[in-house]
Amino acid sequence: MNYIVCHYAEIGIKGKNRKFFEEKLINNIKAALNIQIPENWEFVKRISGRILIKLTNKNQRFDVLKNIFGIAYFAFAVSTKNEIEKIQETALTLVKNKEFKTFRISAKRSDKKFPLSSQEINEKIGESVVKNLKKKVNLKNPEITIFIEVTENNAFLYLEKIKGPGGLPANSSGKGILLLSGGIDSPVAAYFVKKRGVETIYLHFHSYPFTSKNSIEKAKDLVKILNKFSPMEKRQKSKLILIPFAEIQKKIVSSKIDERLRVVLYRRFMMRIAEKIAETEKASALITGESIGQVASQTLENIKVIEEAIKIPVLRPLCGFDKEEIIAKAREIDTFETSIIPCDDTCSLFAPKNPKTKANLKIVKSSEKKLNVKNLIAKAIIKSEIVLI
Ligand code: ATP
Ligand code: MG
Repeated sequence: MNYIVCHYAEIGIKGKNRKFFEEKLINNIKAALNIQIPENWEFVKRISGRILIKLTNKNQRFDVLKNIFGIAYFAFAVSTKNEIEKIQETALTLVKNKEFKTFRISAKRSDKKFPLSSQEINEKIGESVVKNLKKKVNLKNPEITIFIEVTENNAFLYLEKIKGPGGLPANSSGKGILLLSGGIDSPVAAYFVKKRGVETIYLHFHSYPFTSKNSIEKAKDLVKILNKFSPMEKRQKSKLILIPFAEIQKKIVSSKIDERLRVVLYRRFMMRIAEKIAETEKASALITGESIGQVASQTLENIKVIEEAIKIPVLRPLCGFDKEEIIAKAREIDTFETSIIPCDDTCSLFAPKNPKTKANLKIVKSSEKKLNVKNLIAKAIIKSEIVLI
C-alpha cells in the first residue's frame, strides 16, 4: 500500500465553495498528521475529487483520520498507471495471497477519457481474477471486494473502506460560543456543531469559591478531549473562557426574588454574558446542550423566557435527543467518563426544590428590576479568565 485515498461526501456538492471546503479539509488533514511526522507535510494533495496522502513511513498511525470531519471514508490503496493491463496486474498481486473463494470488482472511473466504462473494467478485471486465481464472482455477497478508482493519471486499488465521521471540515462554518457545563450534554452538543464545521469557543460558568474548583478542571479536561475533533496547527489552541458566577447567584438569592425563579434567572444571566462574549469573539451563535423537557429550565416555556434576554441565535443540537441517546454518543466520543466525575454544579448552587416549569416573563422581568443587571454582567466579564488548551 502506498497511498491513502480519502473521500468526502457533502463537500463534493458545495458548488462554488467547493474549493474552499477542500482546502480546509486538506489543511486539517495536514495539521492532524503533522502532530506525528513533520516530514509528511507536502504529501497531501487533491486530485479528481478526492484527497491523496502518500505513505512514507510504515510506523505512522492514521487513526486520527477517523476524527477528521469532512471525510466520508478512506482506504489504504496501491497505485498504478491508469492502463488496463497495469490495473489487471495490480489487482492480481493485491489478492493473490488472500484466502477467499468469492469476490467482486467495484470500479469507478473519474477520468471519462479512460477507454473502458466502469462496467467494462469490472468485467475485464473480474475475468482475469477468475481465470488466473480460480475464484468465483459473487455480486451480492462476496468475501472480498476489489475497489478500483481510475483517475486522470493513476488508478488506485484497495480492499477495504474505512468509515470517516462525515460532516464538514473543522472551522469551515463560522464561529460559535459553546456553553460548557461539565455535565454529559454540552460536550456532545459541541461534537455535533463541530461536525458541521463550527469553530467553538468554550464558556464555563463556575461558582468558585462557593463550590470547589472541580468544575473548572472538568471543563479543561473536556476541552482537551474535544480537541481531537479540531485538528490544529501547533500554535493554535482552543479557547476556554472561565466566568465567575457566584456573585450573581448571591445577589439573586439576597434580593428576595421568588426562589422558584432562580434557575431561569441564572440562565438569563448566563445567556447575556455569553452574548457579550460572542460580540468580542466575533461569534455568530450560542450553543447549549439543552434537550426539550429534560429538566425544569428546559421546558419550551422556560426556553422562551430565557432566550428573551438576548438577540443572538441559540443552537440546541440535542433538542430532540433522549438522555440515553446522548449518553451513547458521549461514550462514543470519550467524554462520558469525565462528565460523570462528581462535582458541584453551578446551577444547583442555591437551587430551589421546586423550580417553576413555566416561568412568567412579566414576573421574571420585574424581579430583575431588583438587580443591577448591567453592572453584574460587566463585573463578571472583567473577572473572567482565558485558558488556552
Ligand atoms: P449538561 O449535561 O450539559 O450540564 P444539563 O442537563 O445538566 O446539561 P442544565 O444544567 O440545565 O442541563 O444546562 C443546560 C445547558 O446550559 C448545558 O448543556 C450548557 O450548555 C449550559 N450550562 C449550564 N450550566 C453551565 C455552566 N456552569 N457553564 C456553562 N454552560 C452551562
Ligand atoms: Mg448541567
